[in-house]
Amino acid sequence: MKKIICLDLDDTLIQTQEAYFSINNNILKVITEETSFPVNDISNYQLNLDINMIETMGFSPERYPLSWVKTYHNFSLEKKSYVEKQIYSEAKQIFSKKIELHNDAHKFLNNLKENDVEVWIVTHGDYNVQNKRMDDIHLDWVTKKIISDHKNYELYKSIKKNYSAELYMIGNSIPHDIEPARQAGFKAIHINRNFSWKYDQYSKLSDFPSCKTLGDIWDLLKMEV
Ligand SMILES: [Mg+2]
Repeated sequence: MKKIICLDLDDTLIQTQEAYFSINNNILKVITEETSFPVNDISNYQLNLDINMIETMGFSPERYPLSWVKTYHNFSLEKKSYVEKQIYSEAKQIFSKKIELHNDAHKFLNNLKENDVEVWIVTHGDYNVQNKRMDDIHLDWVTKKIISDHKNYELYKSIKKNYSAELYMIGNSIPHDIEPARQAGFKAIHINRNFSWKYDQYSKLSDFPSCKTLGDIWDLLKMEV
């Protein structure tokens, strides 16, 4: 049976959390100039607020900058509009800057390409932002790019229903790449990245293949593809 390898994008192929980390630090510098609250309190507040806002705003590119402006409002007595603007535009950069490939992704993608493996990208987020991130790392050779509002059981089930192939899902998020994909009948392999978003970590599932590098995942896959 034909095999299709579906890959997550953020924090699986590209260093998204590292990019957020650097922008968050820049914004924290701005906010701590304005208030005496501990950096960790400010940082945790924004992280939780941003995740809670997914419920109402989904993956809109407005959500992350807005969560930082609201965080500034929460911790600072004064609401200076030039500080707000500075925070907002710094946060917005996450959507325009190039997010670099993980060190092990270049070779992994080449291995897949050279072995004529059918590769799809299955990602969630804003359509234009995700397309730009894929263009930046030259993923024009992959067969299909799916940009979904949410990566849940319904999404994987609909893929499974429409394609008679052996489907693999590879990603860093247990609740979005592993759990629902496996439930829908995919073979799912977890990539355990050092930096992971809190939103990608909520899960009760513990029994699944997990690798530290994409090189290890290629070693698992090459027997089968
Ligand atoms: Mg991811």
